[in-house]
Amino acid sequence: MKKAKLAVIGSYAIGMTITCDHFPAGGETVPGTNFQLMHGGKGSNQAVAASRLGGEVLYGGCVGNDSFGDMCYRLYQEEHIDTSYIRRSEKGLSTGVGLIYVDSGGENEIVIDLAANLEFSPADIDRMMPRIRECSLVLMQLEMETETVLHAARKCREAGISFVLNPAPYREIPEELLQCCDYVTPNQTEGRLMLGAASGDCISDEEVGRRLCEKGARNVVMTLGSGGALYVNGDGIRKIPGITVQAVDTTGAGDTFSAAFCVALAEGKSTEEAIAFGNTAAGLAVTKYGVIESIPSRMAVENYKG
Ligand code: ATP
Repeated sequence: MKKAKLAVIGSYAIGMTITCDHFPAGGETVPGTNFQLMHGGKGSNQAVAASRLGGEVLYGGCVGNDSFGDMCYRLYQEEHIDTSYIRRSEKGLSTGVGLIYVDSGGENEIVIDLAANLEFSPADIDRMMPRIRECSLVLMQLEMETETVLHAARKCREAGISFVLNPAPYREIPEELLQCCDYVTPNQTEGRLMLGAASGDCISDEEVGRRLCEKGARNVVMTLGSGGALYVNGDGIRKIPGITVQAVDTTGAGDTFSAAFCVALAEGKSTEEAIAFGNTAAGLAVTKYGVIESIPSRMAVENYKG
């Protein structure tokens, strides 16, 4: 089968995790163990997932002129992702990094510097447009400047290419961005934050979906953890159940879901079928530890028998 083409534009970052007995207080140095360096960034996770799940992926993003940037190119080579539109920072910025302390109780403290990711600009989107026009859809997240995401959404609208926004990690976005999206894929917390509601507010998921449509979203696909996903648009509300699995690590489940959903949409599947494909891929991902390591192959998803 010919692969469906899609563009994933977003962040690449290196995550550095270290475990300590307790978090250091101001001025304190504490011993750490189990240091790990791993690939991260929502754009990167979603690009890798989309490729493993059967898409032909064109990636857009910016990394630093450093060894972490080299790691990004190596990862994408291994994962068969088109790197023509990754560029190195021209401002001397480093590749994005996240520093994660984990204490003995499993709590974590995280500091993120998106660095070079924020350099990817509307001009970069314009440079990509001839290749984007060959794609069925574009998937973005919120680890780039809002003006870059909005510009891409506008350009896709003009060109008649589906634009999917995974609004994570959440930050306030202009209403025009929501209105330019063909699909938004928030989780339950992000959906509420997009309405300006606190994440714990007593408002049903269905109501969140309805209100996001009132604000201009054409289609809302809200992920519900083990509950699967809710699909809301002007035609109504449908719940598509997830698969039943023994979850061991849900980190990155949202990334795998959005990527799988987009691959299936790009292949011409119906929205309901694409959500079911996303649920199976993300459900399989939570049965393994790690993010990149846990993303299943296309074959694993197709061979899954509930
Ligand atoms: P994360 O931030 O951990 O990446 P998220 O909060 O963005 O995840 P969730 O709604 O928790 O997203 O999960 C995304 C998708 O993953 C769900 O829609 C579902 O398909 C799948 N999933 C998550 N947890 C489970 C689970 N325990 N069992 C089966 N499927 C799951």
